Amino acid sequence: MQTSSSPSTYNPTRAELEAFWMPFTANRQFKANPRIFVSAKDMHFTTHDGRQVLDGTAGLWCVNAGHCRPQIVEAIHQQVATLDYAPAFQMGHPGVFQLADQLVKMLPGYDHVFFANSGSEAVESALKIAIAYHRVCGQGTRQRLIGRERGYHGVGFGGISVGGIRPNRKFFGSLLNGVDHLPHTHNLEHNAFSRQQPEWGAHLADELERIVALHDASNIAAVIVEPVAGSTGVLIPPKGYLQRLRQICDKHGILLIFDEVITGFGRLGTGFATEYFDVMPDMIIVAKGLTNGTVPMGAVFVRQGIYDAFMNGPEQAIELLHGYTYSGHPVACAAGLATLEIYRQEGLFQHAQELSTYWEEAVHSLKGLPHVIDLRNLGLVAAIELESIPGKPTARAFECFLRCYERGLLIRTTGDIIALSPPLIIEKQHIDEMFGLLAEVLKGLE
Ligand code: PMP
Repeated sequence: MQTSSSPSTYNPTRAELEAFWMPFTANRQFKANPRIFVSAKDMHFTTHDGRQVLDGTAGLWCVNAGHCRPQIVEAIHQQVATLDYAPAFQMGHPGVFQLADQLVKMLPGYDHVFFANSGSEAVESALKIAIAYHRVCGQGTRQRLIGRERGYHGVGFGGISVGGIRPNRKFFGSLLNGVDHLPHTHNLEHNAFSRQQPEWGAHLADELERIVALHDASNIAAVIVEPVAGSTGVLIPPKGYLQRLRQICDKHGILLIFDEVITGFGRLGTGFATEYFDVMPDMIIVAKGLTNGTVPMGAVFVRQGIYDAFMNGPEQAIELLHGYTYSGHPVACAAGLATLEIYRQEGLFQHAQELSTYWEEAVHSLKGLPHVIDLRNLGLVAAIELESIPGKPTARAFECFLRCYERGLLIRTTGDIIALSPPLIIEKQHIDEMFGLLAEVLKGLE
């Protein structure tokens, strides 16, 4: 749906290209051969040179209901014309209460939502809430945080500290004190070509006992993990692993936080990963699909009792000294409400679940193609892991990315892993198209 004012083509000037310092991008390489989207509709982007590209990644794992949905566009228009902004502190507006109410109704057991403006901000919020919670409960020594190798929790200092991605950490100094990391669970020797959850690896959760023994539980606030690690290559938890983490946290009074920025809002065929794995963390971080990627927004769900612990002080006190100018922004809330309505009306989580078997077959049809050393899938997410060229640990997948883009498919790569996470409105013919094209590209790789 293009308006008359939206550009159908775009040729950036050199000055325009150079002025923009692009995030998580090889700037020099990009600017020599830019890739630019000018519009999008449902499953497709249109490029600046007028080509259609099938969206195999829901943007950055966020456009779960497909692009430029008129209901969301209209809700944003109306909101910005009615109430463009309301102060986030000591004031409210209808949308923020309505969205919080709808969210808690989606997740029994969680009774309050704290809003932020991105996944990273929601992560920082959850980590701070965890430490503050123990303090208001009279356990102020519980300050240590535990993350996991290959975990991605955004780019705030808290997030990169609990995160386990070496390149994202190494330029940024000493980071937060008091952080430990569990081992990641990725193991090709035991689990290559598993379908859905791998069998091997639940025992890796027991490393948490070792960390607790080292520091004493009375010093530990929280463990944070992505139920399915997305950005580092779709690492699916071994059967029983998350249950084991939950048991150990319970045993020691440690809060468990799930970062569901990717898994939230239907990616696994259930509303949230907590439902898919039947493990209830104490906090759930969401973003991305919350507004279908249209307006930045993140949120933290807290389990019953956490909010109440903060309500014990004098009535007029401000209980949690944390928040953002744009927390619960009216336009983001309007986008969120319209997005949730689409998910409900179209049964998109159910649709994802129904297509997941077809998706699984398509993913594993790539087995045996050159350089493919693993295939992983769950719900509507998947990874294709390629054998690296010695000394060039990202080259093969990136070449694949470039060739797919040229031929009309958007994929995402991390190291030599290709990640796929299409909008949940995907249909079988798109899946056929995606994997047909991927197979051709893989066959043609050096
Ligand atoms: N946590 C996870 C699990 C993520 O995947 C991401 C983004 N990919 C973030 C946090 C950070 O979100 P944002 O980029 O919106 O800050």
